[in-house]
Amino acid sequence: MLSAASARTEVFNQSPAFEDVNLFTQDRPLAEAVAANGGADAANDLAAFGKLWGSAAMIERGRLANENTPKLRTFDARGFRRDQVEFHPAYHELMAHSAHAGLHNSTWTATGEAAGGASEVVRGAKLFIAAQVESGHLCPITMTRAAVGALAVDPALKAKVMPVLGSRSYDPAFAPWWTKRGMTMGMGMTERQGGTDVRANISRAVRDGDAYRVTGHKWFMSAPMCDAFLVLAQAEGGLTCFFMPRFAPDGSVNGLRFQRLKDKLGNRSNASSEVEFDNAYALRLGEEGRGVRTIIEMVSLTRQDCALSSAGLMRSGLAHAINHTRHRSVFQKHLADQPLMQSVLADMALHVEASTALVMRLCRAFDRAPFDAAEAAYMRLLTPVVKYWTCKSAPGFIYEAMECLGGNGYIEEGILARHYREAPVNAIWEGSGNVMCLDVLRALSREADGAEAVMTHLAAQAGDLPGAREALGFVAKAFQRPDAERMARLAVERLALLAAAAALQEVSPSHAELFAATRLDTSHGNLYGAADLGADASRRLLDRALG
Ligand SMILES: Cc1cc2nc3c(=O)[nH]c(=O)nc-3n(C[C@H](O)[C@H](O)[C@H](O)COP(=O)(O)OP(=O)(O)OC[C@H]3O[C@@H](n4cnc5c(N)ncnc54)[C@H](O)[C@@H]3O)c2cc1C
Repeated sequence: MLSAASARTEVFNQSPAFEDVNLFTQDRPLAEAVAANGGADAANDLAAFGKLWGSAAMIERGRLANENTPKLRTFDARGFRRDQVEFHPAYHELMAHSAHAGLHNSTWTATGEAAGGASEVVRGAKLFIAAQVESGHLCPITMTRAAVGALAVDPALKAKVMPVLGSRSYDPAFAPWWTKRGMTMGMGMTERQGGTDVRANISRAVRDGDAYRVTGHKWFMSAPMCDAFLVLAQAEGGLTCFFMPRFAPDGSVNGLRFQRLKDKLGNRSNASSEVEFDNAYALRLGEEGRGVRTIIEMVSLTRQDCALSSAGLMRSGLAHAINHTRHRSVFQKHLADQPLMQSVLADMALHVEASTALVMRLCRAFDRAPFDAAEAAYMRLLTPVVKYWTCKSAPGFIYEAMECLGGNGYIEEGILARHYREAPVNAIWEGSGNVMCLDVLRALSREADGAEAVMTHLAAQAGDLPGAREALGFVAKAFQRPDAERMARLAVERLALLAAAAALQEVSPSHAELFAATRLDTSHGNLYGAADLGADASRRLLDRALG
């Protein structure tokens, strides 16, 4: 019997903080998915990364960077424009760690570190891990990596930029990019009157010698302290892509005037600005009128990262839910041992296994696409499919994970409340849900042979799983209908489930069977815990999920 004093002060029956954990070695589905997709040799590198990012110190940096949000300093005390954003030191430390790991550039610079040509799988696993700790800073990290895809249209400019962008140093100094140890890049596409439809952009670019001067605005432009931005504006020949640095070549501050920072639901460590361009210096990237074509080179990269981040957020939700329920007793029994809670957790674990396998499979396609047409077709068709499914399922998943922690899950001191606020943005930016579905339809009509090959591949891999033949038939028919757009969400979702089952076949066939049986075959309830997975399978799933 507790004394009255200890009843007031003693803390018991609470789970230990989920920190000082290894976010790679304690995640068997991730380790196996990395190995199945060619990254086995990177296990030690990933274990070191997982240990660092799972440390209490990194988790604390994530908290600090989000609680101490960036501040826009528009003017100095004397009224001179500053247009600078100040971040908490923890944000810079997170950036430095991600840059040191090459998350912003290893796609273009990886050499021997990821043996077996699996550099995208290894980078993808690291991004998946980093997102579990802090997602906001990954915005400039992923934009920097993707921007290089667009820079490729101008080899001379790319050759100048890469020695700085390709460095693993993080240099937050407000200085011209060519004087720095490392650099980051952002993107300005969205204007007030249109984000999806960038052709509606009204910012104007006029020639000025070899360069251009841009006047106009962007309604969203994240990470405004980046060293340069890819910006869309209307030139004489139509919508065109530009490289707009923060400093003009003579070293003066370029004409980017930040109006304010967005007050966002989540993603708070990251600054997202509204900006006006006042005769801003910019270099053209690609031909006039080919702006959309130029940026297409980068959007598949940012979409891949959205999917990886969302899968990472769900993994974090699952890990916290299992950690809590293994220690919390209700009615004299640990929650994780109670059949109903086990059903919920195991169903969630199955979802995370499938999502993890799928995003790692997609990374393999990115690794191999440059020299394998079938993998290039997989990447083209399935990037929007995977982004759609993973990013859209994350908010509901994280909500369920929060509930497993009861009241503690809802409280800002825990990380799940932050994950919950963060999750929707991955579905909104870089092509929102409907836009992903339309992109799948576009890939099917423009690259029909490649798409056909992907469907054949999925049928070979997953066709014998429960419900897979019917799902394949449904998808094929739905996409051929004259009103395919109306059916696109359902068809894309089915395609994602098929692709996930196929990816899981290569990692854990028994779980692929279970996934197909509960997602493709029988009608699985809409909420977690509504599938009958059985006691043994449930226990196995949970043992694998958190070692
Ligand atoms: C936190 C945050 C940071 C951002 N950072 C940046 C940034 O750095 N740079 C940048 O350029 N942008 C940025 N954005 C903007 C983002 O990319 C856009 O919000 C997004 O592209 C959608 O554009 P929109 O807001 O104009 O919505 P709209 O284009 O008006 O779309 C509204 C809805 O309509 C749907 N829709 C569109 N077309 C169709 C159609 N044909 N059929 C059916 N449905 C359709 C869309 O899927 C969407 O759900 C950011 C946004 C957020 C929230």
